[in-house]
Order: sequence, then structure tokens, then C-alpha cells
Amino acid sequence: MRINIAIDGPSAAGKSTVSDHLAQLLGYVHLDTGAMYRLVAYMALKDGLGLDDEEAIVTLMKKSKMEFKDNGEIYLNGIEVSDKIRTNEISMAASTVSKNPRVREALVALQKDIAKDKGYILDGRDIGTVVLKDAEVKIYLTASAEDRAKRRMIQNAAKGLKDDYEKLLKEIKDRDYQDMHRSVSPLKKADDAIEIDTSDLSQDEVVEAIYKIVKTKI
Ligand code: C5P
Repeated sequence: MRINIAIDGPSAAGKSTVSDHLAQLLGYVHLDTGAMYRLVAYMALKDGLGLDDEEAIVTLMKKSKMEFKDNGEIYLNGIEVSDKIRTNEISMAASTVSKNPRVREALVALQKDIAKDKGYILDGRDIGTVVLKDAEVKIYLTASAEDRAKRRMIQNAAKGLKDDYEKLLKEIKDRDYQDMHRSVSPLKKADDAIEIDTSDLSQDEVVEAIYKIVKTKI
């Protein structure tokens, strides 16, 4: 039996990497919903639109070709932008653009449609509470802001990027605040989600813990 898995939590808690590993183990598809909000922010900035100009952004979304491949690659109008949407500037812009209800409505509809056949792992902020309310497994991954900032520093260093720890920590805290306090679908743990604090766990241990939970359902 194939199920859907919802993984939510604040930025840099390890959601994406853990979801990728789990997808490989289970033969499922991982959909990184944060990448969708990142792409919309990237498109809006590229066209010089205000991030709160909901009307213009929704119009732009309708006339753009946004592709999210099963292998994680992201294309805008046929051009690959997978790396371009991963900058710190786009992280905060994505958080701001995601406050617009009509942007959320369009992306949530797309996410629900993609996951309708089961066998999906969606990671994001509102998966267990809004997008896949009936997901068979719901996980809420957390870690202290300090641990998450350290983890992001290590990830970025591996990509050859240099970060300032204090700046990164502030960006993470600002984004947490904005994501948890917006009026539409704020980041919160679904009542039926299992919370895992990843601070003292290796990535493999987190994957193992979720895999065990999944096995009880399939
Ligand atoms: O997960 P990631 O850091 O790539 O997400 C970028 C931003 O997109 C988040 O800070 C959040 O504001 C927004 N987001 C969201 N709902 C989701 C996924 C991401 O609002 N399901």
C-alpha cells in the first residue's frame, strides 16, 4: 500500500535532505513545496514586482510555465533555475510572497493534485495542516535555531558558499517569526503530527525514526 507523508517544520531543520533519503528508501517521490514558493519569489523579483502585489504575481504565475521535476529540478519557462532559487535573498522573499492568500491557494491546489495518487513525501510548512490533512504519516521536524544555523553553514560551505553565522542565525529567526505569524496557514505542528527534535540526531537517525513510523502504516 502506498501512502502520503507530510513533513513540516521551520527552515533548515533538515526536512528536504531527510525527505530525499526517505523517498529513495521507499521508492516514493519527494516534492519540496518550499521550492514552489521560492520559484514564485524569484519570478516576481525578476519581473520587478512587489512581493505583496498579489494581483500581478498571480497573473505572472498564470502566464509562466513552472515545472517541478520528480528529480527535484526546477524550470521556469523551460530554463533550469534550481540553483538560482536557493540564495539567502530568495529564502526571505519566498517567506514574504507566501503570505499572499491567492499565491498559496494556487500552489496548494497544484500540490494536492500532484500528490493525489499517493506515494509522495511533501515537505513544507502547511502540509499536515492544510495540503495533506489526511496524510497517513505526519512529521514535525524541529531543532534549535542555533543548531539549524550551524547545519545551514555546513551545507553552504560544502557548496563553496561563505556565511556569517550571526547573520544566518538572524535570518533563520526572522523567517521563523514571519512563517509562524502570518495570517494564512502559519507554520504549526498538526495535532496528529509526530514531533522529532533533530538537534542531537544524525540525518540517518532521523530517516530511520521516520522509516519505522512509515513501516507501521504500509
Ligand atoms: O522550505 P523553504 O525554506 O525552501 O521555504 C521557503 C519559504 O516558503 C518558507 O520560509 C515559507 O515561508 C514558504 N513555504 C510555505 N509553505 C510551504 C513551504 C514553504 O509557506 N508549504
